[in-house]
Amino acid sequence: MEIRLDGRSALITGGSKGLGLAMATTFAQSGADVAIIARDQQALEAARAAIAASAEVKVRAYSCDVRQPDQIRRTFQSVIDDLGKVDILVNNAGTSRAGRFEDASDEVWQEDLDLKLFAAIRLTRLAFPAMKERRWGRIINVLNIGAKAPRPNSAPTAVSRAAGLALTKILSGEGALHNVLVNALLVGLIKADQHIQHFKQNNAGAKSMDEYYANLGSRVPLGRVGEAQEFANIACFLASDAASYITGTAINVDGGTSPVV
Ligand code: NDP
Repeated sequence: MEIRLDGRSALITGGSKGLGLAMATTFAQSGADVAIIARDQQALEAARAAIAASAEVKVRAYSCDVRQPDQIRRTFQSVIDDLGKVDILVNNAGTSRAGRFEDASDEVWQEDLDLKLFAAIRLTRLAFPAMKERRWGRIINVLNIGAKAPRPNSAPTAVSRAAGLALTKILSGEGALHNVLVNALLVGLIKADQHIQHFKQNNAGAKSMDEYYANLGSRVPLGRVGEAQEFANIACFLASDAASYITGTAINVDGGTSPVV
């Protein structure tokens, strides 16, 4: 089976680093034009250049804070102006923000919901109608395994992610007869920029990044932290014609960590 995305246009939020960058690169190498969104202009430009060097497709980068509705609207219009359409939308931008319920203020809750839930709602609202009209669309919501199996000290993120799971199911029902397929990927522990930043701030006794990942990986049934490419592989499959009978599902990409399927 060959997985190709030729002729498709993909918009990936959080596409400058980590899982988003791996997805954007893989989609581009599979033939899709790619638009990436993030805030930091320098990281965006580095990512754009790296993706463009690896594939002969259009690659565009846009500085946008997805918590801001007006920035989302403006950026989406720029993507349409530049690429003509969005066939594949990946709602991926996010950070891990988990702690004790009693420590999370209203502001913390609101910020998490704006970043992880409302950004996906607002972008989907813009992309969904044209996908339905063209009778082809893919929406992939990147969540975490707390969406299905929330644990203590995982507020607010597990709540925002559970809402993302409900959104996925609702949209899959509304898109199904129009061939717009909507799925969620639930991340466990996968190598990404956020872990490098955590290591720099708090190395938890590890002497190197490899040791840090090895310690994290020892808690995973497969015995290791995942590679961003392993995540991009399943995302690329879901974005392709090969996944034409899969919608409304949520797949754990976690090396077996989640206690639920
Ligand atoms: P990284 O920190 O490596 O990358 C996050 C990306 O999101 C960056 O491109 C960042 O760019 C962008 N981003 C963050 N905030 C905003 C914002 N307000 N507006 C626009 N872009 C933003 O994270 P990962 O690749 O690890 O994470 C990808 C997704 O997977 C996230 O939703 C994360 O919560 C989820 N996840 C990842 C896990 C893992 O182990 N890797 C575990 C569980 C969940 P910039 O800062 O420049 O805006």
